[in-house]
Amino acid sequence: MEITAQVPLPTTIFPGNTVLGDGPMPCDWMFIGEAPGAVEDQAGRPFSGPSGKLFNTLLERFTELRRPFVYVTNVCKHRPPDNRTPKVSEVKPSLPYLYEEIKEVNPKVVVTLGGTAAKVFDGKFKITAEHGIARHVEIPDVWSGILVPWFHPAFAIRNADARVALAEDASRLHEQIARLGLFEPQPDYSLGEEREITSYLL
Ligand code: URA
Repeated sequence: MEITAQVPLPTTIFPGNTVLGDGPMPCDWMFIGEAPGAVEDQAGRPFSGPSGKLFNTLLERFTELRRPFVYVTNVCKHRPPDNRTPKVSEVKPSLPYLYEEIKEVNPKVVVTLGGTAAKVFDGKFKITAEHGIARHVEIPDVWSGILVPWFHPAFAIRNADARVALAEDASRLHEQIARLGLFEPQPDYSLGEEREITSYLL
């Protein structure tokens, strides 16, 4: 989905294609990664390669969210050479675009994937100590809401401990958000369904 308002195009500081965000807009849930990888650069879609596969699996196995119903983007809209982590000076040119994107999506919850994205919200963020912990954040004149920092799926592919932590953080997501009272409680149909199934079976 394209951003429709007066959003400046992301500044190209790396060679390659521009990979914009993807998903419904506005959207209660926004996931922000670091930068496109090789597959994303070719496909033009964020998290469409191996990291995206793990990301989709995490959503499906451990959350009530599904990929078509969440907005997914990256801090940098271009692939850094050799897939390296972008430097702070390289992240800065993409921030005006990201900020407009956040305003348009207007999420209730932002889940950052990896330290680079979390540092956009808190420059002192330390992923090893702070991953999985929901907190209120504010970017003045842009957005305020709940941030939940996760490990980056690409790191989790390479590191078994991070994989476990990522799965645990994903499985605690709704419980944490429910405690913050952000969403209307959903009616619980489970008992009704159970009765229906039981009477059907009898
Ligand atoms: N890693 C990211 O941070 N974003 C992508 O889109 C793919 C891999």
